[in-house]
Amino acid sequence: MNYTVKQIVDITHSKMMGDDSLIIKNIAFDSRIIYSTKHTAFIAVNTPKNSGEKFIESAINRGINIIISEHHFPQFENITWIIVENSISFLQKLAKYHFEQSHLRSIGITGSNGKTILKEWIYQCIWNELPTVKSPKSFNSQIGLPLSIFQINNSQKLGIFEVGISQPHEMEKLENIFHPQIGLLTHIGTAHIANFSSEEELINEKVKLFKNSEVIIYNGDNVLVDEIIKKCYGSKKLISYGFKKENQVFIKNNISKNEDIIVQYFNEEISFPVYQRDEVTLTNALALVAVLKELKIDNKKIIDKINSLKAVEMRLEAIEGIKNNIVINDSFNLDLDSLKTALQFLNEYNKRGKSLVLTDIMGVNSNSQELYEEVSELVNEQKFDTVFLIGDIISKFSDLFKSKTFTFINTQELIESKYLTEIENQIILLKGARKFEIEKLKDILELRKHDTVLEINLNAILHNINYHKSLLKPTTKMMAMVKANAYGLGSYEISEFLQHHHIDYLGVAFADEGVELRKKGITTPIVVMNPEQHSYDTIIEYNLEPEIYSLRVLELFYDSVQKTGNDKKYPIHIKLETGMHRLGFKKHELDQLGEILQDKKLKVKSIFSHLSSSDMPQEKEFTLNQLKAFEYNSSYLIERLGYKPIRHILNSSGITNYTDYQYNMVRIGIGMLGESSNNQIQKQLHSVVSFKTVISQISMVENGESIGYSRKFKTDHLTKVATIPVGYADGIPRLIGNQVGNVGVNKILAPIVGNICMDMMMINVDNIPHVKEGNVVTIFNAKPTLKEFAEYCNTITYEVLTSISPRVKRIYIKD
Ligand SMILES: *Cc1c(COP(=O)(O)O)cnc(C)c1O
Repeated sequence: MNYTVKQIVDITHSKMMGDDSLIIKNIAFDSRIIYSTKHTAFIAVNTPKNSGEKFIESAINRGINIIISEHHFPQFENITWIIVENSISFLQKLAKYHFEQSHLRSIGITGSNGKTILKEWIYQCIWNELPTVKSPKSFNSQIGLPLSIFQINNSQKLGIFEVGISQPHEMEKLENIFHPQIGLLTHIGTAHIANFSSEEELINEKVKLFKNSEVIIYNGDNVLVDEIIKKCYGSKKLISYGFKKENQVFIKNNISKNEDIIVQYFNEEISFPVYQRDEVTLTNALALVAVLKELKIDNKKIIDKINSLKAVEMRLEAIEGIKNNIVINDSFNLDLDSLKTALQFLNEYNKRGKSLVLTDIMGVNSNSQELYEEVSELVNEQKFDTVFLIGDIISKFSDLFKSKTFTFINTQELIESKYLTEIENQIILLKGARKFEIEKLKDILELRKHDTVLEINLNAILHNINYHKSLLKPTTKMMAMVKANAYGLGSYEISEFLQHHHIDYLGVAFADEGVELRKKGITTPIVVMNPEQHSYDTIIEYNLEPEIYSLRVLELFYDSVQKTGNDKKYPIHIKLETGMHRLGFKKHELDQLGEILQDKKLKVKSIFSHLSSSDMPQEKEFTLNQLKAFEYNSSYLIERLGYKPIRHILNSSGITNYTDYQYNMVRIGIGMLGESSNNQIQKQLHSVVSFKTVISQISMVENGESIGYSRKFKTDHLTKVATIPVGYADGIPRLIGNQVGNVGVNKILAPIVGNICMDMMMINVDNIPHVKEGNVVTIFNAKPTLKEFAEYCNTITYEVLTSISPRVKRIYIKD
């Protein structure tokens, strides 16, 4: 996009103040994610839940001088204002105009699942045939779609955009902005179904996107979808794909056999190898064939392109590096979007020095001068200490980069220069196109090397927090429980991420957990749930806030506060006993407690209690009694205090099952990690943790041989057995050996055979086609899920997570 302020004001019928000749090329809506301030306007988006106006100041501080807002704030000087009636309608009006001005061929993708992966696959297959623009990440909402549309410029020929809805009547508005020629409807699942009266209503809403489409490609396995599309759009060109043979595009042969997949496309046959044969991958591959055929790509090219397709690994991992560095590795793909995401990820760390390794950008069909100008602008904004450029194209533009810059022909040359291994105490971002294989640099920079990893998806945590927030009033605060090393996932990394996303409180079990967070730079208020007697001075020194649960603790802690001689009232949190019988003040102690608190230099920041059985529907009556006791006792204490502290009692399952009792705050734990005991809620959450390793060796074991210590398993036929490098010292309970537990290989369950050893175990892989040494093995959380794994272990998910040994490397990724 490229408009003057005046043009935008005219197009959207808005008002303005300031310089109407300024040029706008980008619109930013999150003041934390402003990549470049040049030609960028900040829009304060107002939604029913949130107002962007409170971030205007921080956008201006970052250097933005054009603000789009529903209100004018005269205290900011030298700013050009575009004053709009409604911020979201403004974005939509401008997007509609911008889309209609472009002469793109367009593909619109909607559906419940698979939108992003199909968009990325189509893009990977098509970009070097046609200059193509696509939605960044999964920007597909009432705000995301307009922002995606703004990326269209004159040089592109094809646009691929995702369109997502969650409520009735939303699609009409989106279709009004964007009317694709080719419509693609992916799988319809249960996401958002609760907001609609029936599945039929949901489908009817989604297909409104295709009102003006010429062709509709859809998954015809769903009978209801097939009926609705035929009824609404019988006169358009319809192409259905799926497993059923009635579809125009389907798989002809038996997929469980070890041979190429043959896709029937109308009267043609196209065959190619597919290694992942799960239903989702295959269905997506059928949709992809249909789209590529519609774009008139010939069969030979389709086969080549599908063959070279990689899984969509648009993701970043942060790993502990040598010499106290943090290495952020994103060596899977490189385009402007993913560069922006990676640069934003850097902002979330507090390291003093920063270095960047960046390669030629592939997969972009635009003028390289313009491209690298934009790239260098983004990079310069970050003020890197050193920039290493790899590749002959980007090297030509090294003058554009303002940091100390070195250029290299290839990755090997950078390795040989030894520059990288000299870096100390920095954050190093590795960002490269696949062809440059810069993952080799990761191997050099990484501190520990281990095939067994616990992968933690930070984006999924954010999604899960937002899901729980969506059930609450906008004013209700949230405390995230990061005790026990954040349920085993890494308390610093998780807390740093939560702090960046404005969590109100963090909760730890012991003082030293809070101290570690403070030492690493966490400034969010931290409550210590179990302040041990010897730790009161430390608590005060590190500005932690103790849970006070008895008169004894109150007196002792107060002595420590007095010793400091500080006059300020120290913040504490009062725990009430309501039925759990763990810690807390009992009802008969409240008079005395109230009296003591009257004249002490302590400030009760919150009063709280804990539910023992909020996840158990059969204990509803008990839980309601706990809630009643809390209401009564907390009100009683508040009356004695004469002021109103925050009140809170709900944990994760409390939030979903007893939402009405949210008071002023809730405490989320396992729910943030994507686990719920309620199946309906579970479906709405994203999986956060996955525990993986790789196969070390595969052996063919003769009939009658035994496996492992004490000969607990004997083969009854020639058996294929794999050894994997995790054992009970990694936190796999020994009791799940001998075919009690399973692990996943290529999405199929493989039973553990024989006794589990300290650092290894053996699995039966007889039923797994194509299994090879070096293949990934999932201990959990796909197949089997964390819950299933906990069932093998005869325990709960909490214990599984907190039992994983610290020697297992934690990797943090962002989608
Ligand atoms: C651990 C804990 C929570 C979080 O519980 P979840 O079941 O994981 O949501 C909440 N409050 C207190 C006091 C806790 O100790």
